[in-house]
Amino acid sequence: MTAPAAQTPEITTTECRACGAAVSGLDGRYACGVCGWVNAWSEGHGALPTAEQDPDHPGSTTA
Ligand SMILES: [Zn+2]
Repeated sequence: MTAPAAQTPEITTTECRACGAAVSGLDGRYACGVCGWVNAWSEGHGALPTAEQDPDHPGSTTA
């Protein structure tokens, strides 16, 4: 049993573009705890799951 690599978030680190603090995030998505800066969701390393892929999506189950 192997988990798909694409679904395992990777911890990444960058420098906050607003205040310069080191910021850690997952898959290239960051939120700075010092100044509140966040990068755009589209800068992440992988595609975000769609609403239909969410197990809680109302249309994903009929039961
Ligand atoms: Zn910052």
